[in-house]
Amino acid sequence: MTRKPHLLIPTLVFCLCAGCATNPITGKQEFMLIPEEQDIQIGRKYAPEIEKQMGGRIPDPDIQSYVNQVGQNIARISHKPHIEYHFIALQDKSINALALPGGFIFITKGMLENLQTEAQLAGILAHEIVHVVARDSANAMSKEIGLSILLSAVTSENTPSGVLTVADLSKQIMGLRYSRSDEQQADLSGLDYVVAAGYDPYAMVETMQILSNQSKNRPIEFLSTHPAPENRAAYLRQKIQNSNFNLANAKVGKEQYRAAVLDQLTKPN
Ligand SMILES: [Zn+2]
Repeated sequence: MTRKPHLLIPTLVFCLCAGCATNPITGKQEFMLIPEEQDIQIGRKYAPEIEKQMGGRIPDPDIQSYVNQVGQNIARISHKPHIEYHFIALQDKSINALALPGGFIFITKGMLENLQTEAQLAGILAHEIVHVVARDSANAMSKEIGLSILLSAVTSENTPSGVLTVADLSKQIMGLRYSRSDEQQADLSGLDYVVAAGYDPYAMVETMQILSNQSKNRPIEFLSTHPAPENRAAYLRQKIQNSNFNLANAKVGKEQYRAAVLDQLTKPN
């Protein structure tokens, strides 16, 4: 008689758990194909190409530092403050914002031009920070593209046909959609972050109204990968009304935003 087969059980359990990670947003264990350490490696590999494909950075150090400072205010109170976050404003005219694994968060000129307050900017960045914290982008990238492909893509433009380049994959990454529940979590936890950082959470409802109004004039890139803004505004408003937030000193920052972003973007060169 042998008891050997029993030894397999703990080994198997260990193996199954090796790819598990607790999502701090949902508190649930999730199976992750990408180890968390690789998030930064992937972020660093794809961030320069995303920047390039979206017109490069807005060449105004004051706008960059303002966007970064608002983002860092939120990142500091997030579930993962230890990540090195980068908040980058891009020249692209589309109305968009996106996050790469490892803390690289982009917002376009088109989005910045349409926002009106610092609290609205904080809301967009908070939503993207939640995607990083919950590792939604890492998850979607590993499922849709595959870790080995992501890591083995080459940077050279002169590659034989059939070989995937970082440029090819960056286009796919920009079009990735997360699940409806991931998006709702990003909105609702983003709302908590906005309040914890001292901002007015109604700004997130306003942003949904801005996106909804703009979508009547032209297709909005951010909306092609996100649920309808009217639905998002409804559950955000409901959460604010059901919460006991103390909003007495909540910051809106309309003047600050106008001076730091809108006036700078319309300034003749
Ligand atoms: Zn999102």
